[in-house]
Amino acid sequence: MQVLVTGGAGFLGRALVWRLVELGHDVRVLDDLSAGDPSRLPETVSFSRGDVNDLPRLWSLLQGVECVYHLAARVSVPESVRYPREYNDTNVGGTVSIMEAMRDVGVQRLVFASSGAIYGNQTLQPVNEILPPDPRSPYAVSKLAAEYYVRTVGRLWDVETVSLRIFNAYGPGQQLPVVHPPVIPQFIRQTLGHGSLVVHGNGRQTRDFVYIDDVVSALVSAATAPDVDRRVINVGSGVETDVNGLIKHIGQATDQEPQPLYVAGQSSGVSRMCADITLARELLDYEPQVFLEEGLRRVMTEDERFATPAEE
Ligand code: NAD
Repeated sequence: MQVLVTGGAGFLGRALVWRLVELGHDVRVLDDLSAGDPSRLPETVSFSRGDVNDLPRLWSLLQGVECVYHLAARVSVPESVRYPREYNDTNVGGTVSIMEAMRDVGVQRLVFASSGAIYGNQTLQPVNEILPPDPRSPYAVSKLAAEYYVRTVGRLWDVETVSLRIFNAYGPGQQLPVVHPPVIPQFIRQTLGHGSLVVHGNGRQTRDFVYIDDVVSALVSAATAPDVDRRVINVGSGVETDVNGLIKHIGQATDQEPQPLYVAGQSSGVSRMCADITLARELLDYEPQVFLEEGLRRVMTEDERFATPAEE
């Protein structure tokens, strides 16, 4: 298949591109490099540096393409609180641009990387796709609006669309931006540096940590699965882990004693978050393969920032 991956130089995009190339697909990547790194992409990939709102570029990149994986986005929740207009421009406007260009060129299917963040605080856990969304940040709103856009205009323009609500993905190579470091690489770095792990609240807030290879499997399968048009599908591990449990796992994976520092009175975001993955099992033949213990072991051995050099 000829495919375009937007945001293909980012954390998830790069892993997806490698898998697609291994599977023999012809892959094009569009990324503006605001966060991505193209140097780690396979050589066979055709890379274009540019913005998802650049329609003329999209028209030419989409010639002959059968499926678009749309991952390009601004991804920081705190940053989105400060700059919602920019998040709207890229995450919503950029998605509409992709859809317009797909309509103009006649591309068949879009796989959209949405987010578990759209659920917000739900008392019923694990969360399934039927629950009313409760977005708590401009980032979450932008993902939800984009979901509605792709589904609605997809139906109007005869483009098949499927949105995957990805939960907390982690794995080797995850970026560590200063303003919004993801919790797993941040805690590993702090543990290895014998620093304190700042925990907002009592550490009982939960998340669903899903290993990058499992997310990639779901994305790949969504491109060809039948009966997924206009669906939204959760992609998580299906396992609920609280922050205290995560810290214990990180202690084991790093062979160190983590030092949590509990900070009272600070918002810890939503209190519980776990994906019901029944629909993904049914529609995408999805089954997570790598759970936290093994996933963290792989991060420690495969991520060069954390791997210990072999002794002479
Ligand atoms: P990332 O920041 O590593 O990747 C996003 C990529 O998009 C970057 O390479 C960036 O340069 C590119 N980009 C940003 N704005 C662009 C623009 N205007 N035009 C072209 N390219 C642009 O983030 P990620 O973790 O790999 O996330 C990929 C996608 O998956 C995003 O849509 C994100 O919302 C979604 N997602 C990720 C997670 C997760 O846990 N990583 C969870 C839920 C959803």
